[in-house]
Amino acid sequence: MSVMVITGGSRGIGRAVVLGAAARGWDVVFSYVSNSDAAAATAAEAKALGVRCKVLQGDARDEAHLAALFDLGASIGTVDKCVINAGVVDVQATLADMTADRIQRVIDINVVGALLTAREAARRMPKSKGGAGGSIVLLSSAAARLGGANNFVDYGAAKGAMDTLARGLSDEISGDGVRVNAVRPGIIDTEIHADAGLPDRVAEIGHLQPMGRAGTAEETAEAILWLLSNASSYSTGTHLDVSGGR
Ligand code: NAP
Repeated sequence: MSVMVITGGSRGIGRAVVLGAAARGWDVVFSYVSNSDAAAATAAEAKALGVRCKVLQGDARDEAHLAALFDLGASIGTVDKCVINAGVVDVQATLADMTADRIQRVIDINVVGALLTAREAARRMPKSKGGAGGSIVLLSSAAARLGGANNFVDYGAAKGAMDTLARGLSDEISGDGVRVNAVRPGIIDTEIHADAGLPDRVAEIGHLQPMGRAGTAEETAEAILWLLSNASSYSTGTHLDVSGGR
């Protein structure tokens, strides 16, 4: 059976991907770091759609946890889909005002965590490594293009790395059966904005987007699910904007 592994599946965009995958009949293994109530609720919703769904608490920076996450996937089927979704922002600040600890944390979770997750996928999914091939999707951001000035350029720089990783890893393993792409969401209505100290961000700037509104987690998930599916079979090394024209 086809299994999708996703980091950060408890809430937001990750949750929408988990439920969209379940609706397509794909078994799911997902991680979360601290919100066990949300993780349990998402897993229950996925199972109610008739698939198997396993959950593992752990930090995306922890390589042993990531190996265990993929092992859990392998224990229920063939991992042929991977979504590298876990990500964080810190509070709104200019670069001049950021501490080294904050920059380190943002880069560690968003970049090192993504690289370690992608490495685990690249060790297992390619056909030459005994895998079935498949598709990897990285969560980048419109901030990778726009920079995130006066809000979080550390995050923007981290997401720029996701665009580069999608291209570089695609060149490494697309000929070995694994496509690798990035999705760049714009302003999406999730709890991540509250983590930046901007709980009203969607209401405040959603209407300023070219389409006149923020996006939903489900709209973002649809793009990710398409890139995971065979419907996108000739797309690799690309960056798909899901940003309402921004
Ligand atoms: P969210 O609602 O804040 O959810 C974040 C998810 O990541 C949660 O499942 C969280 O687990 C998990 N997570 C956070 N830190 C983790 C860590 N160190 N290790 C493992 N899991 C961790 O975020 P979102 O808005 O859905 O964002 C998902 C992805 O899309 C991120 O990469 C984000 O940068 C990107 N993105 C979002 C937007 C937007 O406007 N929302 C725009 C562009 C890009 P817990 O529930 O346990 O905390």
